[in-house]
Amino acid sequence: MLIAEQKHSFSNKHLLTSKNNVTRHSEQNVSNNKLININSVEELSCSNKFGTFFGVPQSVFDRVWQELSSPKKNSVAYVSMEIGADPDIFHPVQDFLQEEGFTQSPEPAIQQVLDKYLHGPRKIPNYSGGLGVLAGDTLKSFADTHIPVIAISLLYREGYFSQLVDSRVGQIDQATNWSPEATPTLFQLQDPEDPGQPLEITVPFFNEYDHPTEAKAHVWMKMEVSEELDYFVPEFLLDYFIPSSPPWVREAGLRLYNATSAIMKANQRRMLGSGILPLTEALGLTPGTIHLNEQHGVTVTLHLILRHLEKTLGKEYRSTMRDEDIMAAAREVAEHIVYTIHTPVKAGHDRFARSLYTGISHETCHQILNLLAIDADSPHEYNFTAFAMRVNRAINSVSRLHRDVTRKQFPDVADKIKAITNGVHHLTWISETRAELFDKTKELKDWRDDPGVFARMQLSDEQNFCKQLQQAWYQDNQVLVEYINTMLSEHRTQMDTTWIDPPNYLSRLPPEDSCLQPGVFTVGFARRFSTYKRADLIFDDIPALADILVRNNWQINFIFAGKAHPQDEPGKSVLKLILDNQKELYKRSNGLAQLIFVPGYDMRIAKMMVSGVHTWLNSPKRPLEASGTSGMKAAMNGVPNLSVMDGWWVEGYHDGATGWKFGYEGPLNADSLSEHPDTLLYAEDSQSFYQLLPQVLELFYERPDEYMQLALNNLRLNVPIFNTHRMAAEYVRKYDLELPAQTEARIKDFQNLYQSESSDS
Ligand SMILES: *Cc1c(COP(=O)(O)O)cnc(C)c1O
Repeated sequence: MLIAEQKHSFSNKHLLTSKNNVTRHSEQNVSNNKLININSVEELSCSNKFGTFFGVPQSVFDRVWQELSSPKKNSVAYVSMEIGADPDIFHPVQDFLQEEGFTQSPEPAIQQVLDKYLHGPRKIPNYSGGLGVLAGDTLKSFADTHIPVIAISLLYREGYFSQLVDSRVGQIDQATNWSPEATPTLFQLQDPEDPGQPLEITVPFFNEYDHPTEAKAHVWMKMEVSEELDYFVPEFLLDYFIPSSPPWVREAGLRLYNATSAIMKANQRRMLGSGILPLTEALGLTPGTIHLNEQHGVTVTLHLILRHLEKTLGKEYRSTMRDEDIMAAAREVAEHIVYTIHTPVKAGHDRFARSLYTGISHETCHQILNLLAIDADSPHEYNFTAFAMRVNRAINSVSRLHRDVTRKQFPDVADKIKAITNGVHHLTWISETRAELFDKTKELKDWRDDPGVFARMQLSDEQNFCKQLQQAWYQDNQVLVEYINTMLSEHRTQMDTTWIDPPNYLSRLPPEDSCLQPGVFTVGFARRFSTYKRADLIFDDIPALADILVRNNWQINFIFAGKAHPQDEPGKSVLKLILDNQKELYKRSNGLAQLIFVPGYDMRIAKMMVSGVHTWLNSPKRPLEASGTSGMKAAMNGVPNLSVMDGWWVEGYHDGATGWKFGYEGPLNADSLSEHPDTLLYAEDSQSFYQLLPQVLELFYERPDEYMQLALNNLRLNVPIFNTHRMAAEYVRKYDLELPAQTEARIKDFQNLYQSESSDS
């Protein structure tokens, strides 16, 4: 067979060494000794008693699975309510198949998998925004750096929601239809006792009458495979939408962050947290550390405490346990928990009325929560953030400024709160065009393995590099502009054929007046629409904004995207306000300013935007944006940020070398954490934006070479720091893992790139 005869090995970029194909990647370097051989596509098929999977050779699969199930408990369970890792923007297995031209297999089962990889759906809508995308990026870096990690989340059959936008009503929410069965990289685990049947795990629950009941879940595995297909991180997604689960459990598992009722919300959290131990036990996996990515899954802590009490006090512990016993058990359990808090904003912290929670859990649990989830400010509620804060071995914030704010919010544990500044997965977010340039730049050899090379980059011909970077940028801008122009024209027809009124004013103008042009200064803004993010800040004074443009005859495109949580009415009104501003801005600026809203923000749109714009705008109320990651994605592409001094930008801003700052920077005060409209500082922050904007536009249009220096500076100063390889390496310190010497050395190198906690700032 053709496939069986093809022989090749590959490294970083899958270097071909077969005699027929030697030339395809001959310019690539064999960069390290991690070379593994893949002789045929069948070799990417792997199996164990839970089923047959695809993506890494059997030997890799066995080695990793063995590490994850070792009695030494030398691995980590990463728990997250959401994981964003859409295969349409990063997928080493699919890239490999495409590069090698693998489309056929004589084995029907493998052919089926190949078809999914090559033609299957590209979205796994199990995320709502930053938290999920961060989780996905983190897991990819764990895979790339060979850290033994499993991830646990839920599978949402209706995703988060799909966003339609109508200019009169604003956002319209729809269920997302997707099929896990048809999605590549997702595999349903099989029951080893009953081959061919799905594995079903049992999660003990209590119903509202305080009676024990059981929830059931099927388990899906998604593999986050390393760039070199020589390691993987399995993500286990619990699917509770199955006939054997009670209807209220099924319903609570359908949609991410379903908040139609408090009880629905509480149950969804429990389905994550309480499913962890049954899952790892069913699979024989032995994580010694649980990393809570936000507190959503914190009920696992409750279960660990219950188990510890049973172990020390015996079967009758429920009737004999005293408060001291609970506190002692909590101290033991804490040694196994690492917790990352992601926001100072209240809506991000789960609180449940005690009366509600006691209705759905056992009395023993209340006794524990009464000690550990109390909140002095709100005695009638259980505060799950407070619970996570109290029982752990390490608490991490997601930037230095966020650490300082979190310490103020939780003074009792202030000393314990340390910063590990977020990052993004550089291989996911650097555009193809830029990646091609980096691949062929010899001073950047190994950039895929080591984002630190940008810090040491000594270009022999900087001018030439800049020119090519500029060209790549222009191309990415062109791609974005074409995407938008196509969208506008589709919306124009949609206006005739559906009841949806297109979200963009430009769709109402004749096509010749309403096309974006490449090369026009393009500002990008995309994030969740929460009021504190102030998407509408720069439109606070449209006449002032228009005046800057008209006076200088500067053209500008503003590209906006993002979703508001279906229950967030104020967030939805900000989105609507953006739409309402389009016409006035266009008219007042004589058409120089075009403001576009792109519906359905997802990772693909994000990647197109962060690489296709000329600056990335971030205008939250300081200090409410704990970190922010979309700005880092822009920086990965050399795109300068234009941002309030909040979150990561406090660390990524280097006196104007990497971008600009604006807005209030004074000391934090009593109003700082408030989201009340009167405290959002619109007037003063927007004024400082209008003062800054002319400098930015002048630099872009008049001194493009200097503008390119900003791009270079971002590559040198920010890529080495704000990537998830470095971030994962900082987390490894908190995990207490025993790693092979080679992995350890690599982790050290990444740790040396930056210490989030060092307070030289
Ligand atoms: C990166 C990303 C986010 C998070 O961006 P922030 O700047 O942290 O708000 C949200 N949604 C998508 C689709 C993303 O790619």
